Amino acid sequence: MSKFIFVAGGVMSGIGKGVATASIARILQSKGFRVTAVKIDPYINVDAGTMNPLEHGEIFVTDDGTECDQDVGNYERFLNENLTTDNYITTGRVYQAVIERERNLGYGGRSVEVVPDIPNEVISRIIKAEKKKKSQITLIEIGGTVGEYQNLLFLEAARIMKLQRAKDVIFILVSYLPIPEKIGEMKTKPTQTAVRLLNEAGIQPDIILARGKLPLDEPRKRKISIFCNVLPDDVISAPDVFSIYEIPPNFEREDLANRILEKFNLKPRKKNLRDWEKLVKTIKSAKVKVKIGIVGKYFETGEFTLMDSYLSVIEAIKHASWFFKRMPEIHWLSAENYEKRESAVKEVENYDGIIVPGGFGARGAEGKIKAIEFCRKNKIPYLGLCFGMQLAVIEFARNVCGLRGANSKEFVKRAKAPIIDFMPEQKALIREKRYGGTMRLGSYKCELKPGTKSWNAYQKKKYVFERHRHRYELNNKYRQILEKKGLVVAGINPEKDLVEIIELKEHPFFIATQFHPELKSRPLLPHPLYREFIRACISAKISGVRRR
Ligand code: GLN
Repeated sequence: MSKFIFVAGGVMSGIGKGVATASIARILQSKGFRVTAVKIDPYINVDAGTMNPLEHGEIFVTDDGTECDQDVGNYERFLNENLTTDNYITTGRVYQAVIERERNLGYGGRSVEVVPDIPNEVISRIIKAEKKKKSQITLIEIGGTVGEYQNLLFLEAARIMKLQRAKDVIFILVSYLPIPEKIGEMKTKPTQTAVRLLNEAGIQPDIILARGKLPLDEPRKRKISIFCNVLPDDVISAPDVFSIYEIPPNFEREDLANRILEKFNLKPRKKNLRDWEKLVKTIKSAKVKVKIGIVGKYFETGEFTLMDSYLSVIEAIKHASWFFKRMPEIHWLSAENYEKRESAVKEVENYDGIIVPGGFGARGAEGKIKAIEFCRKNKIPYLGLCFGMQLAVIEFARNVCGLRGANSKEFVKRAKAPIIDFMPEQKALIREKRYGGTMRLGSYKCELKPGTKSWNAYQKKKYVFERHRHRYELNNKYRQILEKKGLVVAGINPEKDLVEIIELKEHPFFIATQFHPELKSRPLLPHPLYREFIRACISAKISGVRRR
């Protein structure tokens, strides 16, 4: 049994198509089916790895080291499953494969055409993802909005798939119903137009998700049904929500999973969304705040990008806070302010805990180092993520070990004390400008040091696996000096002897990792390090350990 659901977006972008896809996947999974989801991004980039977070939002990394769209992260979080490179398709990947095959005489000497060879490659990739996961229902989210050129060949692939497997393919349109301020009523016309555009591509939606500020009312449901040629029960209300995790139960209330199963002639095997409903209850009832400051720089272009650049970090903070029935309050602290005005860093004191997340380049780095120093000295819980670990080590080297010239080779090529350096194999890659997909990416083993806080957080496991995305490393030449002065190396990669986790002893919580723990945090299963970080934030606050 292999069923396929294509999800396309109408009217405009940014209406939560990814989360809608993840939520549909989750409710179908809760009916007892094996479900997976594939993201199609229409850009020519082979993957998201070379894009600036301001342009693209967060770059998510899977276990197998694929640098992909943040929606893949949403799928993982909602499905509670690890996905692979097969769950991510881009125009770049499709064309690259077709061109390579042509170069290898893989088309037997015939002329290779945009249609059908490109849609056929797309279809074979979808089938590959389905086979690899032994998925019974596969969702395919087509990026972009219907009516644009960019995703036309993907819609064409969807149309052909429907032709080939009529009973096994359905289409869902996620559309938007604006409420113009002066009119004050929800308008269905843009959705009607979106359906026409989809019809032009030879596709008729089976279900329409009506995204909007408010729930859909009956008259409008009927209107969309008549004008867009779908049954009224297949027009699903999808109003704005307080938390994205409310969406699966909302869809369940609209009977969406059963509507889908009916179209596939399937019967639900079980029903179990209870854990999820409990989580939503916690999210809505948590009142006591835990105040976390994120010191970063990728948030100059407004709220939208700001949230997107650090999406997994934000989600991981939420998961861990809800675990303790707390309401996370996240604040954005601009590292560059601390460079301009020395005393500005004191604001760090107003937070229960501080995170320095992943980052690239020199801009803002010195400001982040100041924030880290403040956390270390004032016993403010600190969690450093990748760049946040590298900078924590530089701060320690400078201010505790007295290595004045301590720096990262990422920004000072001839640093006197190159505490952070790139690995030898990176040298040639950088020289030859081979940047795409060449960082240390994906899951690597980490051996934990018994007795450390990290080891305790991970329930005293000997090994854990965590995901990486970085080019630079702690320089082992300096390890002894650092350790002598009290820096605890709590985790190493045993194969290459690389430092993966550092922590400080005489501090309520000062842990920094070379990997990105947030990539493996799940709503019902917060990441151990985030969980312990939030625990420390809460208890430091209660016991008044810190000056406030
Ligand atoms: N810029 C650093 C490196 O490449 C850190 C990367 C990160 O934080 N993801 O090693």
